[in-house]
Amino acid sequence: MVSNLSISIGVLTSGGDAQGMNAAVRAVVRSALNLGVAVHAIFEGYQGMVDGGDRIRSLSWDDVGSILHRGGTIIGTARCPVFREREGRLAAARNLLRHGIDRLVVIGGDGSLTGANLFRQEWASLVAELVERGDIDELTAQRHSALMITGLVGSIDNDMVGTDMTIGADSALHRIVEAIDAITSTAASHQRTFVVEVMGRHCGYLALMSAIAGGADYVLIPESPPSENWEQEMCDLLRNGRAAGRRDSIVVVAEGACDNAGGPISSDRVRQVLQDRLGEDTRVTILGHVQRGGTPSAFDRCMSTLVGHAAVQELLSATPTSEPQMVGMRYNRVRQAPLMQCVEQTHAVARKIAEHDYAKAMELRGSSFTEMFQTFKAMAGAPPSVIPPARPRRLAVLHGGGLAPGMNTAARAAVRLGLDRGHTMLGVRGSFEGLLAGRIEELSWGDVEGWAAMGGAELGTTRQAPTVEQLYTVARALETYRIDGLLIIGGWLAYRVAHNLYSERERYPAFKIPIICLPASIDNNLPGSELSIGADTALNAIVEALDRIKQSAIAARRCFVVEVMGRHCGYLALMSGLASGAERIYLPEEGVSLKDLQADVERMIEGFHGGRRFYLTIRNERANAQYTTDFMCRLFEEEGHGLFDVRQAILGHVQQGGNPSPFDRVLATRLAAHCIDFLTRELERGSAAGAYIGLVEGKVMISPINRMHDVVDLEHRRPTEQWWMDLRPVMLGMARPAADAV
Ligand code: ATP
Repeated sequence: MVSNLSISIGVLTSGGDAQGMNAAVRAVVRSALNLGVAVHAIFEGYQGMVDGGDRIRSLSWDDVGSILHRGGTIIGTARCPVFREREGRLAAARNLLRHGIDRLVVIGGDGSLTGANLFRQEWASLVAELVERGDIDELTAQRHSALMITGLVGSIDNDMVGTDMTIGADSALHRIVEAIDAITSTAASHQRTFVVEVMGRHCGYLALMSAIAGGADYVLIPESPPSENWEQEMCDLLRNGRAAGRRDSIVVVAEGACDNAGGPISSDRVRQVLQDRLGEDTRVTILGHVQRGGTPSAFDRCMSTLVGHAAVQELLSATPTSEPQMVGMRYNRVRQAPLMQCVEQTHAVARKIAEHDYAKAMELRGSSFTEMFQTFKAMAGAPPSVIPPARPRRLAVLHGGGLAPGMNTAARAAVRLGLDRGHTMLGVRGSFEGLLAGRIEELSWGDVEGWAAMGGAELGTTRQAPTVEQLYTVARALETYRIDGLLIIGGWLAYRVAHNLYSERERYPAFKIPIICLPASIDNNLPGSELSIGADTALNAIVEALDRIKQSAIAARRCFVVEVMGRHCGYLALMSGLASGAERIYLPEEGVSLKDLQADVERMIEGFHGGRRFYLTIRNERANAQYTTDFMCRLFEEEGHGLFDVRQAILGHVQQGGNPSPFDRVLATRLAAHCIDFLTRELERGSAAGAYIGLVEGKVMISPINRMHDVVDLEHRRPTEQWWMDLRPVMLGMARPAADAV
């Protein structure tokens, strides 16, 4: 890290806007200020840099307050043809040097990042020319002999190699999936077919993920064109789907979709084919700029904050000779990667598509993209598309524990993928109680139609575990219904029961079947998975509520204590604090002491005396058994002595409701596919492992259930290691200025 803190950094957003850019700008500004570094915003992208004047302005801590929830970018963005010319870049260098800026955080797409790199490479010659022209003096030239840049990828397309997610992609997916959900309901009423066109010229991410999340029938993406006979295939598939119980048909088309010869497949062409061959009333919806708009999702706010924070660290440790880095997310962690290598590989995908080398294009997108494409195709096709195995197996699906949005999505995926493998799929209604009572029925492809988008749990779930005495009845039910394998989708209770069944298998041989647990809990407190299904939906529900609470309080001097769920796990509290810009969070992992509360009151008083109008605190429901939400509110009110008033909001079951978020739907589908693979494999091998599945550093992992107790804190019902605890310093850094900084 540089020791000279008289440096100035610049931040700009460039190219197409993307939701989450504001969170990134806020994080850059606040992280820089916390390190005592001055930070300038360059308004309107490179155009502002070329124009100079008041388009380059220093930003204070408060300038970036209350922007997290806003779509677009408050510092503006533009496409700037003149920056592509040396003359434009010369003017840009002159303007930056006027403010002593020689370090830049560039937030934009591959074009913007390419431009930044060119600027960096040319910098020395630009500076020399400015000296020659007499625009700057020698000393300035010496002081700023090199330009250092760090890139953040702002692009709704999620098209950049080197980061798993780009800023804005998750929010765009929200917009698309909301639209598909809305279209589906009207399409189903009239038994219509809809073609939905989404953005993505060279990248099928939005199309594929929205097709999975929206439960669409067919998808066309640029990286993997359909077979030559695609028109017929598509029509057959849609016809079969209708015959199997669908009331609507949805085809998702990426704007860059093409056929094998590279000829474009437009949404209108798809409509024409469907109309001609199926005689269906087919409508086209082109979503367009709706996808860029609206409030950023919780994920985009959190991720952009994390990468913005890391970008400042990266930028300040850069040297004139070090390779510029791009900061993104890889495997659920903030990671750096060589900027130009990422840009080059991104261009390579587009090149491969243009050369019709689709196998290579898919390979460059990564294995999980290919995997999700295969999974989508296996789910969309009705009836089963593979030859059934020699001995069809009977797999049962049930839920256990509290409700988590995404349970239906997981059950649907499991049923369809199980059928695709030739299994008989059984649904247990009413969780373990249903198993005891024999409420078990065969599920067909059409029975789970529409479940991808549905909140709640169609199969039902309860928090009732079988007692020791009831284990015999469980064993009998498994035998009676000839259940060969069990998929339990649920939370802590589901895991506990699965562990119990595994432990009792010597006493009850019926339990010697493969059993796998799929994490579904808004609390995100399950072992073996960094994220469980439902947590992202709950987080979005909380963040939306917090946005409203903030708006409601704008006219008064008010402190809010908002209580969120999570049981003994502070994930929702921390992440919602990060996404909403809370001043303080109370986590069960840290507890709350009287000393903490006293310091908080002092901070509040100081803040309100200094002109603050709102103070947001988020308290996990079990942060402290004695210092309840009510107690804290009374304490703050009393100690505030009328300087501010205090309100509480206990969000309650709002957090468990609602349709699952796109992320939860995609995760549910991905994990369910692996569960079906696992059960099939175990049965083929003749083994009967007990396991739980999850996502660890971006990879699907399966862990043995009998080792579960090694990795959990049984008393507090949470994993002993929680990856997100490392994010606390960033949250705190965003909440208030560091004492020793500006
Ligand atoms: P999006 O993915 O939304 O299109 P982008 O950053 O790729 O974003 P571009 O229009 O390609 O968008 O680039 C934005 C701006 O970056 C351009 O208007 C131009 O000012 C600058 N830029 C892009 N490519 C270059 C280049 N090769 N040299 C110099 N400047 C460039």
